[in-house]
Amino acid sequence: MHDLARKPPVTALDNDAVSREFSAWIARKARLRHINVAIAILILIGLGLIPLISQGTYAYARYGVALAYVMAAVGLNLAIGFTGELVLGHAVVMAAGAYAAGMLSAHAGVSFPFAVLGGIAGGLAAGAAVMLPGLRVRGWYLALITMFAVLVLPRVVVLTEHWTGGEFGLTGIQPPSFLGYLLSDWVLYEVTLLLLALVGLLVANLVRSGWGYRLRAVRDIGTASAAIGLRPNRIRFTVYLLAAGPAALAGALQAFTDAFVNADSFGISLTLLLLTGVMLGGAGTLWGPIVGMAPLIALSFWVGPFSVYNAVALGAGLLISAIVVPDGFVPLIRRWVSRRTPSSAVADSMPVAPVGDSGSGNPSIRTRREFGPEILKARGVMKTFGGVRALQGIDMSIRQGELVGLIGPNGSGKSTFLNVLSGFIAPDAGDIRYRDADVTGWRVDELALAGIGRTFQVPQLIDELTSLENIEIGLVGHENSDLISAVLRLPRDIARERRRRTAALEIFRAMRFAPETLGRPIAELSLGFKRIVEIGRAAVSKPTILLLDEPAAGLNEKERQDLGDRLQELAAQGITILVVEHNVPFVLRICDSLMLLENGQVTCRADLDEALPERLETYLRHDPTPTTQKVES
Ligand code: ADP
Ligand code: MG
Repeated sequence: MHDLARKPPVTALDNDAVSREFSAWIARKARLRHINVAIAILILIGLGLIPLISQGTYAYARYGVALAYVMAAVGLNLAIGFTGELVLGHAVVMAAGAYAAGMLSAHAGVSFPFAVLGGIAGGLAAGAAVMLPGLRVRGWYLALITMFAVLVLPRVVVLTEHWTGGEFGLTGIQPPSFLGYLLSDWVLYEVTLLLLALVGLLVANLVRSGWGYRLRAVRDIGTASAAIGLRPNRIRFTVYLLAAGPAALAGALQAFTDAFVNADSFGISLTLLLLTGVMLGGAGTLWGPIVGMAPLIALSFWVGPFSVYNAVALGAGLLISAIVVPDGFVPLIRRWVSRRTPSSAVADSMPVAPVGDSGSGNPSIRTRREFGPEILKARGVMKTFGGVRALQGIDMSIRQGELVGLIGPNGSGKSTFLNVLSGFIAPDAGDIRYRDADVTGWRVDELALAGIGRTFQVPQLIDELTSLENIEIGLVGHENSDLISAVLRLPRDIARERRRRTAALEIFRAMRFAPETLGRPIAELSLGFKRIVEIGRAAVSKPTILLLDEPAAGLNEKERQDLGDRLQELAAQGITILVVEHNVPFVLRICDSLMLLENGQVTCRADLDEALPERLETYLRHDPTPTTQKVES
């Protein structure tokens, strides 16, 4: 146990500790990566040697198709695991890849590599079409709609039997050849294996890049991701294509492996197989689809691919995984390993060091600052919800560099106003000017990129990532998002990663986070800490204005003081802050000025170093009970 308050206050020592912790964390990640690569290479060698022990066209076809299934599961995991999109149409994507490649080869005599490319294109098109509803609907609706595509597939195949061979299947696929050489069965198997390894590598790179943050942001912080400058639907659409890619390639390879395509191979059982594989292994982990598919495939080899027990075994697998290992095997193994390697404890409920020598709670920290021009102005802002007039013509302005407290009884419209300012709610009337532009009606992500940041009452963070990574996420919306450099891990992408990390470390130091929290998953830390991490995420992109909705709600006294210190620190760095808060001592301690919102109108506004107007004085004295609404006389 250590007491952070007894540590020497903010010195270079602390920063050294941060550097040490950072290096240790990076080293840990690198070590883990090396282990993973070593395991992957061993598995590849093992699988590559299979033709030595098991031969014959039939055996190769079985193993080749098994690899194709794993490949498709890797794609599915990108959508369902990393991005949290419940899409179940991957069997259709595989079918489209298989039919497109097969038809190009059988009907047009297109050579193997180009037929595979055609298959990928066909699968991507099908994937985009099937998953497109995901831009409008979520959750089980999306699952059902995509599942519907799987049910419809055999009909479509029959309707187009002139090309697809209908119920009899597509035949006449040419044996694969490359540069004039005929690829024998085992070579095709090895090619499939290499392509699976390549897909795995590209996906690992993708998930490690800023895109890994984008996908998880869509999954875990939903609409709030727009507040850090991301466009969730754009990311979703990209993910649909990215997730369809491996499945499309897998389908195309399967067409050549089997030299035959039949809609029956791409039905509900394949859907179930892929889904079970991803869930059993651990959705949203790199190894998940591989670890999960392996036992299922082994099982189907054992009972025979055409056995009726296959579907039963899959159903049982899904049941067991849901009950015994709800997050899958990989997270289970991870937890088991991390339990055996104890990490340093974070003893304090608020793992941050105090700011300044005097510790916290000293009102004299506030020094009179000179404010710049008015940078955010609202005029006549109105908003009605049904019959409730939440905002009734708000007029106000904020000067650059100011720390403004927005106070007022519950239901007076504070959150609504913040939502209007950050673009989450469009006002019915009135306008908002930011700097010299009329920003009324701008999208959330546009406002975020223009420098209006915000946090949420319930911190919107990515639980599995560390505090440092969660701060980094504040930057991905501001940087170039090109996929090529991400999946190939080009120097450009590595440079981006370095920039993000440096900026996040700077915030980590500036906000005096305890070093030992750096490499910790955020889920393990307290609410108070999460609140300041979220503020750190908003601050890392150097916003002009920060809008904070009740950041101190639910915090204890010590946490609240720590939070106040952080806010003053940010204000001192020149960030303008508008903070909604109930707690009167808190706002009196940290704010430069106060704005009183009552019944959807700003009724008072005053600088705190001048005499307060009577109305504000009265409000502050009668510590407002949150449940009673003040009514205008
Ligand atoms: P505060 O944050 O000051 O407590 P809010 O801005 O949350 O107040 O709410 C102001 C008024 O608007 C309340 O009467 C509330 O019921 C209403 N309101 C807020 N959001 C919505 C919504 N999405 N739909 C309907 N009414 C809402
Ligand atoms: Mg509110």
